[in-house]
Amino acid sequence: AKFIVGLTGGIGSGKTTVANLFADLGITLVDADIVAKDVVAKGTEGLTRIIEHFGADVCQANGALNRTALREIIFNQPQQRDWLNNLLHPMIRQTMLKQVQQADSAYVIMVVPLLFENGLDKLVNSTLVVDVDSKLQISRTSARDKVATTQVEQIILSQMPREQRLSKADDIIDNQGDLNSLRSKVALLHHKYLELANKPD
Ligand code: ATP
Repeated sequence: AKFIVGLTGGIGSGKTTVANLFADLGITLVDADIVAKDVVAKGTEGLTRIIEHFGADVCQANGALNRTALREIIFNQPQQRDWLNNLLHPMIRQTMLKQVQQADSAYVIMVVPLLFENGLDKLVNSTLVVDVDSKLQISRTSARDKVATTQVEQIILSQMPREQRLSKADDIIDNQGDLNSLRSKVALLHHKYLELANKPD
């Protein structure tokens, strides 16, 4: 089976940036956010089931999912949120694993923002946490998204605490520095993963 590295980190820690550096080295990325959108795209089984359950209000005129409407329905209804997660999480897992098996690189990077929170760490062979302090999370995210720092602070508080995430990591990549130092850290990890991937299991 293919060697899978689970890449995670808090908001604005640099997951996408790190993932793209692995991609530059020829490594296939499997991105949970992209798969989560794919499984509810127009015409999918996932979207059909959602419309059957929640009604046509969660569907836009063009047939695509109305995410705002769906978010509002599940916001104050934990049972409905659970229903949705029970529908989508197995689909997302299955699709990600299919993409892993189709990948032709020596190992695969699975990018999952909520890797530990959603138990997807059980699917991977090794976990890699991108780490920065909350000050940098806030400044980089608000610069990127043009949002208020208070909004970023709230998201940080809703995620797993930094120390807990770090304690679960097999490897940690410190992203406090510049992009050049990040690139050399990624290169070192790449060699480590190539070795691990070539070990017989
Ligand atoms: P999210 O959780 O919101 O998806 P993320 O973890 O994928 O975010 P990125 O989008 O990769 O984080 O990085 C956040 C911002 O910080 C981006 O604008 C990115 O270009 C910038 N950034 C990432 N790493 C560095 C770095 N080492 N130096 C300077 N800027 C950086």
